[in-house]
Amino acid sequence: MSKFQNGKDFLNKHTLVLPINQSTNRRIIFPCHLGIIFIGNVSTSMLKKLRFHLEQTFDSFFFDIQFIEDANLHPDIFKLKAKEEHNLLNKSSEKVLLQPTNRFYEIIVNKKFEYNFDIGIGLTNIPIYSSSNENLLFLFGEAHIKYMCAIVSTHNLIDLFTFKDVKLKKIERRIYKEVIHEIGHLIFGCEHCLNDYCVMRFSKNIKEIDNKSIYLCEKCKLKLEKVRARDNF
Ligand SMILES: [Zn+2]
Ligand SMILES: [Zn+2]
Repeated sequence: MSKFQNGKDFLNKHTLVLPINQSTNRRIIFPCHLGIIFIGNVSTSMLKKLRFHLEQTFDSFFFDIQFIEDANLHPDIFKLKAKEEHNLLNKSSEKVLLQPTNRFYEIIVNKKFEYNFDIGIGLTNIPIYSSSNENLLFLFGEAHIKYMCAIVSTHNLIDLFTFKDVKLKKIERRIYKEVIHEIGHLIFGCEHCLNDYCVMRFSKNIKEIDNKSIYLCEKCKLKLEKVRARDNF
């Protein structure tokens, strides 16, 4: 939920449209099935490492982690409600189209039902804005706790202005951190951790993502243990 100023807000104001016969409002019992859905043009070369980091961080929380590619999105799906803004809000840059997060939640929730995932995380190269607060532009990611899904956009994890100086490894590490962060929200809730190096710390820019570690702090690890005790695994 990086760049998300008010974590509680979006729960009240979301505008997610879902088929009414799909019951989604139940508490997840861990361990469960996790699906990572690649939406749009996202490199899948980091799959192995992403799996490694997720298994290391959320050890035994998931029966399995499945990766699904969804590169065949029809362009029509995005033609409504897009916002046109200067890239990364830099006025000298070209304008790009940002898509609302609820559009992605629809895609992810449908995949969740199709593949029987309990938690679905979307990973996209498309820039996003929050559909619950339209002033939150170029989000790194956002979690939707009620529907147990989250979206992470790689768009501004790749700093377009310094791209040549930044190693791919560093960019990938930002993506791993953000995916872990959003899954953390789905397990622990909206709150951010105040510990400087914890991956659950709120990051308002790339620098802050780079400055925090990829790991949970001891306090957040304890939260995982509480869930483990609650669900008896
Ligand atoms: Zn967050
Ligand atoms: Zn922490």
